[in-house]
Amino acid sequence: MSDAARISHDDAVAWLTLTAERLHDQKAYLTELDSAIGDADHGINMDRGFQAVLAVLPTLPPDDVGGLFKGIAMKLISTVGGASGPLYGTFFLRFGTATAGQPDIDIASFADALDAGIGGVRDRGKAEPGDKTMLDALLPASEALRAGIDRGDAPADALAAAVAAAEAGMQATIPLVARKGRASYLGERSAGHQDPGATSSHLLLKAAADTLFKG
Ligand code: ADP
Ligand code: MG
Repeated sequence: MSDAARISHDDAVAWLTLTAERLHDQKAYLTELDSAIGDADHGINMDRGFQAVLAVLPTLPPDDVGGLFKGIAMKLISTVGGASGPLYGTFFLRFGTATAGQPDIDIASFADALDAGIGGVRDRGKAEPGDKTMLDALLPASEALRAGIDRGDAPADALAAAVAAAEAGMQATIPLVARKGRASYLGERSAGHQDPGATSSHLLLKAAADTLFKG
């Protein structure tokens, strides 16, 4: 029985599977964004990592969503490479630690896990909001999710609000000057381009909203 208020193992698998499919479809686009302000590999890195995630998903514990997220974290760390590999790896490692031993989680636990994951990205990458990184999509999403939960929104509505905030944050990276990662080497010339990592983070959250809390 699936429960619209909770994220089960199968729901998490559906989220990660849709993420992998969309990253594969958007591989050229993400790489094109990275060609403007980086080294033209973000789509390649993310697609390689999430294809490896697809392969490992069936081997991960069926009764522990935290174990599932930790398992995919290890895969991402070993396969993605670049700056984004350790960052997304740490994101999912902390996400998995926050949900360890749970057969399923509710929206409040999901929000806590998201914050733990974002904390991992901040610890590892030392970026601040406005530095033109994946954090500029992830942080507004987390704030909007909390606001939705506090308002008493249905889980699906709170998550949809989070995705809208991630999208706005992603678009708001366009005028920013990068202060972290390869794009920062360009200085002022990094302005005028959307950040690739903020774009993949929006994609990850959009896939969550399209799979989780659907019942
Ligand atoms: P690389 O820059 O090593 O080629 P990718 O192209 O896969 O790695 O990823 C680039 C993305 O990583 C950037 O668009 C940015 O969002 C993100 N990023 C880079 N450095 C940091 C950092 N210190 N903190 C958070 N995100 C970062
Ligand atoms: Mg790159």
